[in-house]
Amino acid sequence: MAALLSNLIGGERIDSSSTASSPVRNPSTGEILAETPLSNAADVDQAVEAAREAFSSWSQSTAARRTEILFRYKELLEAHFEELARLLVRENGKTFPEAQGDVRRGIEVVEFACGRNHLLKGESLPQLAEGMDGVTSLEPLGVCAGITPFNFPAMVPMWMYPLAIACGNTFILKPSEKVPLTAIRLAELFTEAGLPGGVLNIVHGGREVVDALCVHPGIAAVSFVGSSPVAKHVHTLASAHGKRVQAAGGAKNVLLVMPDAAPDSTLRAIMGAAYGCAGQRCMAGSVVMGVGEAADGVRDKIAGAIDGMKLLATHEHDESDMGPVIDASARDRLFAAIGDAAEEGAALVRDGRENLPGSDGYFVGPTLLDNVGMDMKISRSELFGPVLSLTRPGSLDEAIEWINSTGYGNGAVIFTGSGAAARQFSRGVNCGMIGVNVGIPAPMSIFAFSGWNDSFYGDLHVQGMEGIKFYTRQKVVFSRWDDAYARHQGW
Ligand code: NAD
Repeated sequence: MAALLSNLIGGERIDSSSTASSPVRNPSTGEILAETPLSNAADVDQAVEAAREAFSSWSQSTAARRTEILFRYKELLEAHFEELARLLVRENGKTFPEAQGDVRRGIEVVEFACGRNHLLKGESLPQLAEGMDGVTSLEPLGVCAGITPFNFPAMVPMWMYPLAIACGNTFILKPSEKVPLTAIRLAELFTEAGLPGGVLNIVHGGREVVDALCVHPGIAAVSFVGSSPVAKHVHTLASAHGKRVQAAGGAKNVLLVMPDAAPDSTLRAIMGAAYGCAGQRCMAGSVVMGVGEAADGVRDKIAGAIDGMKLLATHEHDESDMGPVIDASARDRLFAAIGDAAEEGAALVRDGRENLPGSDGYFVGPTLLDNVGMDMKISRSELFGPVLSLTRPGSLDEAIEWINSTGYGNGAVIFTGSGAAARQFSRGVNCGMIGVNVGIPAPMSIFAFSGWNDSFYGDLHVQGMEGIKFYTRQKVVFSRWDDAYARHQGW
């Protein structure tokens, strides 16, 4: 049997008190790499205790010490960059370049956190009244928790803990039970950089751990990234227990192609958005809208590009253009969605159920459906796989109206040579992240990752200054030291 993983609590590897576990598989082969313990509320209690204890000294550590550890962490992440990306390929199935992108985006958050001394500076105003000064500071919250999905094993956890810790909090991470190995390695490197035990803890598991984190009185804030139903559940439960919560959910992102779009760069962007990471991205483009005469050209070019794609086991082939999806149930769900769409009347231009690599991996080929009705199930639900639907709205106005009816609000993209169309789209679409001639408008670490509607529950998003605000609270100190006060000291 594959090795059973341990939790990381107070700087020690500690076995879960639960006996249940869940396999971590290489999605390219189905091979079991490790067993994730499905920890329980008692394990969470132990982690909160360790994190609480560490908070008393970490929250008082000097600016110089915290910065030094963060810079050393960044250096170690660079030194282990390829190793981390290879580990990520094995447990997630991404291609090697995609895995490098996943780790790189995470490192960028650490770089942002390295600027903590500047980012955490408060404000001050002297002489508010005679002899009175006002100073504000951004204080840590206490023990924070992070719950992450399978699709970005490095980047999404690193949206959370580097900033939380840079702000003086201690942290408990619950990575996806499907991809815990990258998170463990990331934490080991932080320890090697000098992070004291108990500042970053990992409790593995699933729903039981999530619910225990949401209700634990010792936890001040919960960050969640995953599907919308679970995001909503976490937001509701943790808020009801008095915690600050940020919960990012799923999406249905549209790529809109106007007749005046530049064909080659548009095609490259669409292929990356729809089929990159096998479509398992919350910013994936899963509906392409061709307005007017753009539609036929878009269909033919995408079909041609699909025909040139190689699907290979990603842990053995760096040249693979697309990897498998995460597990057998994701593959079966996608196969069923393709079949249902065809039954509803969509035309199968390329069918991802065919011509698959002969392996035990969970491959779904790049799929393109045409004549997809805007009310069909496939155009409304998040698919999270390499399945792209082509719809043909009559006008830009009609397209915007449809996008605004999906209920989600992560990303939307327009390809056009017209500034007027780009402006109308950017202003009219109710999404938090808009691309103009850019396939995936996922913001870099200096900006917040700003989902709207059912793609986000809470007020302050991950990353950027919103991330700093989420992990801190403001203290205002008014002090009076005038001559009159000095004269009257003592009773
Ligand atoms: P998921 O919701 O199944 O799981 C996310 C986390 O919640 C995991 O740690 C999991 O163990 C836990 N969990 C799962 N079911 C639970 C339940 N019933 N109660 C409590 N906890 C539960 O998501 P996933 O399949 O791992 O990831 C894919 C989803 O994440 C997609 O919907 C994708 O759009 C979304 N996502 C969103 C963003 C974003 O920034 N908005 C980023 C990445 C992924």
